[in-house]
Amino acid sequence: MGSASPVSRRRNPATSLNPVLKVGDQIAEVIRLHRGQDKDAAKSEAVQMLDAAMIPEPSKRADQYPHELSGGMKERVMIAMELAGQPSFIIADEPTKGLDAITKEEIIKLIRDMTADRSMLMITHDLNAAGEACDRIAVMYAGELLEVAPAQTILSDPSHPYTQGFIRSLPSHGLHPITGSSPSLIEPPTGCRFHPRCHRAKDICKREHPPMISLGKTASVRCFLFT
Ligand code: SF4
Repeated sequence: MGSASPVSRRRNPATSLNPVLKVGDQIAEVIRLHRGQDKDAAKSEAVQMLDAAMIPEPSKRADQYPHELSGGMKERVMIAMELAGQPSFIIADEPTKGLDAITKEEIIKLIRDMTADRSMLMITHDLNAAGEACDRIAVMYAGELLEVAPAQTILSDPSHPYTQGFIRSLPSHGLHPITGSSPSLIEPPTGCRFHPRCHRAKDICKREHPPMISLGKTASVRCFLFT
């Protein structure tokens, strides 16, 4: 007997779906391997998973190959496949990358609905997608955490100068880019890794590495402005 997988990592549907296997069979394979169901039961559940992933005509789609589906449908198939193993924790790596605005909205809603009863870590450059799909956001820069807070706090009242600059650079906030470029991770800047690009940098920022500072029970920030 197989067992439910504790962790599932979301992958790129363009490269992860097997092009020579029907999508229903690919989902059924996950159900058989992880949960030990027989072939017929697994196939029937695969159709149910496609239905839950809001794919129209799920029985018909289960018998199709990946190239017969749109990009948005392939995303849905991947989500159904990840959840077929009943993981308790999901890592969603850039789930909205390359999608048009409408498909992106649909996929975020689907991820939110289908992961309501389990934990998920989403890795993304899309701050708005993170805000819609996640309860909390952790902002990273040059390989380290700079700010952690409830999603709505990050989006509406960020504390760290990098997070503030990131939000100002979004199209919805006027497309004002952060000056300078990302640092080398081989030789990161001394002190605060963001200091060469920070308009609020002080002398100490160049010399010392700022610690993570608590801003109450739900948020923390790595910046000398809060010491
Ligand atoms: S520690 Fe200094 S350089 Fe770094 S973000 Fe805060 S103010 Fe800017």
